[in-house]
Amino acid sequence: MHLLNRKMIIYKTPEEIEIMREAALVVSRTLGEIAKVIGPGVTGNQLDELAEDYIRSQGAVPGFKGLYGCPSTVLVSVNEQVVHGLPSDIPFKEGDVVAVDCGAVWKDYYGDHAYTFQIGEVDPEVKKLLEVTHECLNIGVEAAKVGNRIGDIGFAIQQHAEKHGYGVVRDLVGHGLGRSLHEEPQVPNYGRKGTGKKIQEGLTIAIEPMINMGTEKVIQLDDDWTIVTADGKPSAHFEHDIAIVDGKPEVLSTFKYIEEALSKKS
Ligand code: MG
Ligand code: MG
Repeated sequence: MHLLNRKMIIYKTPEEIEIMREAALVVSRTLGEIAKVIGPGVTGNQLDELAEDYIRSQGAVPGFKGLYGCPSTVLVSVNEQVVHGLPSDIPFKEGDVVAVDCGAVWKDYYGDHAYTFQIGEVDPEVKKLLEVTHECLNIGVEAAKVGNRIGDIGFAIQQHAEKHGYGVVRDLVGHGLGRSLHEEPQVPNYGRKGTGKKIQEGLTIAIEPMINMGTEKVIQLDDDWTIVTADGKPSAHFEHDIAIVDGKPEVLSTFKYIEEALSKKS
């Protein structure tokens, strides 16, 4: 999502960043709970119910539900769906890839965090797309440091994705994060070196590469939510929340709960 509520970048204090870390970790643990159960036969609606219950059990509030009219706690995007897929009763099947994007509000601050899961045995080509998209996220995070500009993040992500022949989605971007889910600045996953706003201490952003196996072009379905690739080929999405602390990117969210859960299943 990329609607913006404010025009100026709101830099955060160390105290605010600590609250944002807690918000991000609520979402990280929620995705960890999802990792425990996701598999063939499971539905998006089941994940949505689990996520909402879990977030509320932590004393937090679902971040997406009700925002911009969003009906759900998680957005569940399967295969050629890029982002903003609405959870449904259609069971996941062997070979699917399922991007789960989740938000939570904790003490008035948002966490916003996504991971693309593999359902059973996934085609090696699709597996590679997921690996490279995850690498794109890490590379984008590394570029988010004082001395760089916002365009350097997108440049780094785009270089890596295009090296593998993938399409970088242009129509949706990462974003500033804080008391609003979408703050300034926009953080595109493409760009030119040395362009855009300077990265400064206290900046808090969500970096979220959306990488397509084929064309970068996307279309929105008639449900006014789901974004799909124009060529029907698969897409992947990984998202972290980061803060600039001591000039460097600090990842507030973590995939460790997901990785722990997945390693126990395999
Ligand atoms: Mg998100
Ligand atoms: Mg986001």
